Amino acid sequence: MHSYEKSKSLYDRAKAVIPGGVNSPVRAFKSVGREPIFIESAKDSTLTDVDGNTYIDFIGSWGPMILGHTPPFMQEDFNKVIKRGISYGVPSPLEVEMAEKLVDAYKGLELVRMVNSGTEATMSAIRVARGYTGRTKILKFEGCYHGHSDALLVKSGSGTLTYGVPTSLGVPESTVKDTLVGTYNDVQELESIFKAEGDLLSCVILEPVAGNMGVVPASEEFIKALRTLCSKYGVVLIFDEVITGFRLAYGGASEVYGVEPDMVCFGKIIGGGLPVGAYGGKREIMSIVSPLGGVYQAGTLSGNPLAMHCGIKMLDHLKANPQIYIELEDKAKYLEKEMKMVIEKHQFPVTFVRYRSMPCLFFKTGALSSYEDVKSCDIEAYAAFFRSMLEEGILLPPAQFEGLFLSTAHTQWHLDQYVEKAEAALIKLYS
Ligand code: PMP
Repeated sequence: MHSYEKSKSLYDRAKAVIPGGVNSPVRAFKSVGREPIFIESAKDSTLTDVDGNTYIDFIGSWGPMILGHTPPFMQEDFNKVIKRGISYGVPSPLEVEMAEKLVDAYKGLELVRMVNSGTEATMSAIRVARGYTGRTKILKFEGCYHGHSDALLVKSGSGTLTYGVPTSLGVPESTVKDTLVGTYNDVQELESIFKAEGDLLSCVILEPVAGNMGVVPASEEFIKALRTLCSKYGVVLIFDEVITGFRLAYGGASEVYGVEPDMVCFGKIIGGGLPVGAYGGKREIMSIVSPLGGVYQAGTLSGNPLAMHCGIKMLDHLKANPQIYIELEDKAKYLEKEMKMVIEKHQFPVTFVRYRSMPCLFFKTGALSSYEDVKSCDIEAYAAFFRSMLEEGILLPPAQFEGLFLSTAHTQWHLDQYVEKAEAALIKLYS
């Protein structure tokens, strides 16, 4: 049994001065029925908490740690950059380099603007789509999370699913009255929405592989139908690639599905873990952004040199080593094969799903292609599983509705540990 004394004491202090003791709700570990652990350091795929407990990390800072924590090449020139100043408030060369790399990676991406988070990216992209089309309605899908800006905080995923608060207090009805919510992967419904509202829609935003209701990939049919309908009705198609961008492939979901959106949003991954986001798209659309056009969007720290430096390092490394994507997928495939064998052997009522390098263990059997399907997962069972795994030194996302975040720093041994401990935890749960 680990000791969590120091984490406990930090949590008590934190609760006195931070709402719920955390700076992002899922971190409270509330839905998995325990108190949070506080991390002191991270290296490769290992986290060490303030009590000295170590964990194999399957959160990976929710996505950006594709190469594990603090790889040496990332640390190399950091001190040089910091010595040149932390923020200037006027342009710096690194911003140009970063934008060039993004434009180079994504087909159809011609102009891109840096922001500081995924939330800012999606919020700004929607403003641009509305400004460009002169229309107000937006379409999102149930179970997709696009950050916490008001208009998008409707039937979103992640923490809001777990806590059963699909729409936040403090979001006025007037703000979300133009947000339509569709069913993920339902082509027929999509066609009828467009028939009824297509001419009023400014944009459709989606996670091409939903990573905030577990891992639920869009079917090719769904993505292609979206592309066709958006083009037909003059609606801006926005891919939220905050999780999938540079993870599924260097060109993200757009490359994997072979479908070009009109706009794309990025987040944490392109900052290598520093607070970064970006949104961009076709020149014609993005030319409406201030100072070129009338859509205002700004940011004091946008394009911050330290963040750009880390982002560029990350992108350069991914581009120079394309085998990383094969390696990541092989790891996910291995987990899938081993876990499917374990599940089959014991007939556990769970399903292991994988899309490319995004795996997820759902605590249910049967269909898993929409929010309606995943919401019947046994959340209590996941919570017990999470707690058993944590005791065994394996840190999973503290919520059923998140996938495992794999990195190149996960070795065969780490993966085998996951399988071995997961089998024991599931036996404990279901025997
Ligand atoms: N979009 C998606 C798909 C996300 O997963 C997230 C956060 N995980 C966001 C947007 C919001 O990003 P951030 O937390 O950086 O604001």
